[in-house]
Amino acid sequence: MEKNEMLNGVENEEKEVISRNFIEQIIDKDLEEGVYETVHTRFPPEPNGYLHIGHAKSILLNYGLAEKYNGLFNMRFDDTNPTKEKVEFVNSQLEDIKWLGAKWDDRLFFASDYFGQMYEAAVKLIKKGKAYVSDLTADEIREYRGTLTEPGKEDPYAGRSVEENLELFENMKNGVYKDGEKVLRARIDMASPNMNMRDPVIYRVAHMTHHRTGDTWCIYPMYDFAHPIEDAIEGITHSICTLEFEDHRPLYDWVVQELEYPHPPKQIEFAKLYLKNVVTGKRYIKKLVEDGIADGWDDPRLVSVAALRRRGYTPESIKKFVELCGVSKAQSTADMAMLEYCIREDLKLKRPRMMAILDPVKLVIDNWEDGKIEMLDAPNNLENEALGSRQLPFGKELWIEREDFMEEPPKKYFRLFPGNEVRLMNAYFVTCTGCVKDETGKVTEIHCTYDPETKSGSGFNARKVKGTIHWVNASTAIEAEVRLFENIIDEEKGVYNEEDGSINVNPNSKTVITAYLEPALKEAKAYESFQFVRNGFFCVDYKDSKDGAPVFNRIVSLKSSFVLPKND
Ligand code: ATP
Ligand code: MG
Repeated sequence: MEKNEMLNGVENEEKEVISRNFIEQIIDKDLEEGVYETVHTRFPPEPNGYLHIGHAKSILLNYGLAEKYNGLFNMRFDDTNPTKEKVEFVNSQLEDIKWLGAKWDDRLFFASDYFGQMYEAAVKLIKKGKAYVSDLTADEIREYRGTLTEPGKEDPYAGRSVEENLELFENMKNGVYKDGEKVLRARIDMASPNMNMRDPVIYRVAHMTHHRTGDTWCIYPMYDFAHPIEDAIEGITHSICTLEFEDHRPLYDWVVQELEYPHPPKQIEFAKLYLKNVVTGKRYIKKLVEDGIADGWDDPRLVSVAALRRRGYTPESIKKFVELCGVSKAQSTADMAMLEYCIREDLKLKRPRMMAILDPVKLVIDNWEDGKIEMLDAPNNLENEALGSRQLPFGKELWIEREDFMEEPPKKYFRLFPGNEVRLMNAYFVTCTGCVKDETGKVTEIHCTYDPETKSGSGFNARKVKGTIHWVNASTAIEAEVRLFENIIDEEKGVYNEEDGSINVNPNSKTVITAYLEPALKEAKAYESFQFVRNGFFCVDYKDSKDGAPVFNRIVSLKSSFVLPKND
């Protein structure tokens, strides 16, 4: 514990203990009892797709623990299965992890670099009589394994001598056999109530080219054998994974014990992060992309890390979200609204508040001189003076939001209607004098007069108005493509169609509009984000923007029904 925390006395110390999650409690105990001297964690993705918000949780958890305990964090690719892995994914995953803020310095590892050591480990097991080569086919192995209620049957090849096994295993390595012809099995217990312990296959023959080791190997280790070895080689102390591996833990422990590692790592499982009505699994995201529903793995409507970054989420907001979700063994589902809350909170004070009109209608100031432009000083963020101010052109014709005018307003409508006076944000008070409509009755132009005494910042306080509306000067406005999003999933139906397992897609999840923006936004660069007053937070799309012609994605609107869950 830090010195200043100690000075805070007993009460705080107690609080500190209570607020620690179950993994931290395990680590505390291990350090106290001297099971480990330091903390060493890792993030071990398979480079077979893009990382998503669930992986982000695992990254931040593992990295966060290493940081908190002044330990070490390894970045390791679990690239032991050459069928699905690609260099493209190695690079995209590294970019995502770096962006999230996890640092691995020179501790970047590839499980495939340990193939030699894994082979030796298998030989060691054979020599100890703890592994044997079997000729059973995959189907036969399944049959012999038994069921949850029936014990398995002894493998007919289990009786082979150590010498014979060593020779056959070497032959496997030397390419003597075809795929599936022989496997290496751990000798554990065919009657174990845990199916994973019934002589699991630990090596298989697969004549495949690996993205790093090429054709050096034609045998590859199975995950349950490889993973504990990777952890042990790297000196990992706490190997954190998700709940589906709980039943594999006895095998993990068996491997590190039989291989006699001096400081065996410990596996700890926690519940996966799930988001309600959101697709996270690689398989399903892939399907949305292949069906042309999502435009690529970084479509801003998805929750891959690349998509969240493109949408305008910040690493800080994702970190905050993951913290709010907590770490536990109980399966639960988080709400997208909580993630949205986190990005709003993060950007609120950090970003300038600019003016953009998404659904424009003209407002004409009849008593303003034709052609005259006045430059007004506008603070960038009233709640954060450090963001400074900008110059805003103001003239005779403005764009305002269509919903900010009503010819016949209901009660409590304080925006523009004939006879009413409102404040134009950062500018003057204007009084509505009427409107022009087309033959269908649609309002095409609204008229008003302004009062020169009421300039914003002038200290005018002779009268007050109830409504303030935002605007953009028409002659200097820039037109920009803006995309508004809804969930790509039809929330009423839920993610999966019960009948055929397909995904229930929301046909209205993307709306593309042309908006009018204040001219300062013309030079906005990829990934830059802003608040557009009343309309939400927006981020410049890195893919579709051009120099001087930014395209904006709405990150999130300003409205929220989300309430922060009460914690301690
Ligand atoms: P998916 O099937 O969703 O793509 P995966 O489990 O196949 O995920 P891996 O590359 O094997 O992906 O996972 C890397 C690490 O991320 C593992 O330690 C895994 O437990 C963790 N992880 C994966 N999904 C989640 C999730 N939803 N929440 C928390 N951690 C996760
Ligand atoms: Mg996986």
